[in-house]
Amino acid sequence: MRKEAISFVYEVFDDTSSLAGVDKNLLQKAKLATQTSYAPYSEFCVGAAALLSNGAIISGSNQENASSPAGLCAERVVLAAAAATHHNIPIETIAISYDNKRTSTSNRPVAPCGICRQSLLETQTKQQTPIRLILSGMEGKVLMIDDIRHLLPFSFTAEDMK
Ligand SMILES: [Zn+2]
Repeated sequence: MRKEAISFVYEVFDDTSSLAGVDKNLLQKAKLATQTSYAPYSEFCVGAAALLSNGAIISGSNQENASSPAGLCAERVVLAAAAATHHNIPIETIAISYDNKRTSTSNRPVAPCGICRQSLLETQTKQQTPIRLILSGMEGKVLMIDDIRHLLPFSFTAEDMK
């Protein structure tokens, strides 16, 4: 028997002031996208914005449903919209933000849910290039993760079915 460990390196910024312009712009688009959220049940409005390799930016937001499982997270909305409108164009970066209407502050990063991590990984595997993530609330700290695989260790992909 032996023990093994998994770790990964990510970047932390105190705020957006030292972000590259392209990243700051994408995060701003994600914050704006929270305004298109339909979240009457959770009041947790999530926005996501994807930068594609052709320079296009696709935005999405969470769309809830009275039948909870029918709802969609912002991340999967943006993945589907990008795939449907820019077929086979790789996604380089996705910024994700949120506006929690139940509290007065949305000032810390939140990470994608498990289903979205699996969907992000599927897209990354399909396009064969890493998808960077930028995570932040409406203000405060910003996290950057350079590969979605880091968020889903021991993941299940098409490779496992070969
Ligand atoms: Zn999700």
